Amino acid sequence: MSGDYSIGKKIVHNYEVSIIAEYDVVIVGAGVAGISAAVAASRNGMKTLLVERDGCVGGTATTGLMVVFMGVSFSTIRGNCKELIDRLERKGAAFVAENTPFDPEVFKFEAEQWLLESNVDILYHAAFSDVLVENDCVKGIFLQMKEGMRLVLAKIVIDTTGDADVAAAAGVDFQFTNHVQPMTSIFRMDNVNTPEVISYIENHKDQFFSQRGQITWKVDHNPPFFTLGGFFDLIKEGKERGELVLPHDSIWLGPLPRAGQYYVNTTRIGGMDGTSSIELSKAEIEMRKQAWNVAEFMKKNIPGFENAEMLDIAVRVGVRETRKIIGEYILTGEDLESGASFKDAIAIYDFPMDIHGAVGKEETHSWGLIDKVYDIPYRCLIPTKVENILVAGRCISSDSRAHGSTRSMPCCMATGEAAGVAASLAIKSNVVPRNVNVENLRALLQAQGVLLR
Ligand SMILES: Cc1cc2nc3c(=O)[nH]c(=O)nc-3n(C[C@H](O)[C@H](O)[C@H](O)COP(=O)(O)OP(=O)(O)OC[C@H]3O[C@@H](n4cnc5c(N)ncnc54)[C@H](O)[C@@H]3O)c2cc1C
Repeated sequence: MSGDYSIGKKIVHNYEVSIIAEYDVVIVGAGVAGISAAVAASRNGMKTLLVERDGCVGGTATTGLMVVFMGVSFSTIRGNCKELIDRLERKGAAFVAENTPFDPEVFKFEAEQWLLESNVDILYHAAFSDVLVENDCVKGIFLQMKEGMRLVLAKIVIDTTGDADVAAAAGVDFQFTNHVQPMTSIFRMDNVNTPEVISYIENHKDQFFSQRGQITWKVDHNPPFFTLGGFFDLIKEGKERGELVLPHDSIWLGPLPRAGQYYVNTTRIGGMDGTSSIELSKAEIEMRKQAWNVAEFMKKNIPGFENAEMLDIAVRVGVRETRKIIGEYILTGEDLESGASFKDAIAIYDFPMDIHGAVGKEETHSWGLIDKVYDIPYRCLIPTKVENILVAGRCISSDSRAHGSTRSMPCCMATGEAAGVAASLAIKSNVVPRNVNVENLRALLQAQGVLLR
């Protein structure tokens, strides 16, 4: 990025905007998908910028405190996701298992260092505002910065905002039903007595559930590790006493790498639009209220939490579902159930469809179990209309059922990695992303450690 933050000017709607930089690839949104896309693009020789509105990387993984990589199946997760998890593990900041918990502060630092080592430029405190499109081709993005509105030019933009903000602004078609999954603010508690929690679970197995159907929790790590939901009777009784006000019938939790720390994923609010600042504000206020109520309830009622304290509440409410682009292919729940394979597969995954009901009685959540590996086609990353834009992470092209699986962090990292490599191939071959040679793309991904069928 240039020192004086201006390498030219552009007149847009009679308004002169400073152009602050020109990149091969600009990635908007530094969640897990954006981090992975940026590392991949830069390592493949692209001058790469990662833009983020917050002051750290990670998105839902850090500011949302979603501190467990779900579905880290060792047969499917390779490439960037594995590299980052290995890095966290070396710092003692992750337990590597199918559901891998990690420390969010170490994540912020390690992921940032990984990006810098990969020669990615990072621009924090810059919110995507609008996109420059000429003749149906994306040419750059407008950023709302402390300095004012600025323009960054790019050969290819990768939208990893989670909400498809860039794609929507560029006129890409998207789906956004009014039955999106509810939002949740995760919180962490400290000073929990793990042997007591485990003893309660072991003696009340009928009070718990986990994502692969049966209780698959295990305590074979030291410190012990599990992630599950339950405490059904305690919650029912707490609600009957009026002590607990929660639109949910279970508490989902698990221990974190630092002894005594737990994450709690149980607050929820349905019927909210995650692309509206007004509705997000309502959700933040309601989620903080629920979080404190649940924490107090846990201290009083859940064995092992008597001396626990609230450590922190996510600074951004966790948004599970908003826009999903209409891409060249829409991945479906049926594709997942049948273990579909595609010639243009850029990732494989096998996590169940984790679908939380939208509102009311449906507030409980269900796991659409799958027992097969499925492919994610490259076409799910390519919007139907506009050129020079790719989409990765939570907002790829899928129906709501498939999204219940693809929204998990390992999968977001996999689609991010593919988008970064595809952008580099497109630029090197002088074609738009839609026309990238998928055989070459797949070969490049495999060469850098991605497992494909
Ligand atoms: C409550 C909850 C529980 C979950 N549980 C799990 C779980 O246990 N395990 C699991 O693997 N997954 C889980 N998920 C899913 C997973 O965490 C997310 O789907 C995933 O992290 C999304 O990653 P992403 O990179 O696509 O988007 P995000 O994490 O949303 O990142 C998007 C980034 O873009 C930035 N951004 C957005 N808009 C703009 C803008 N206009 N300008 C600049 N920057 C912008 C954001 O600040 C953010 O950093 C859960 C999600 C939620 C909400």
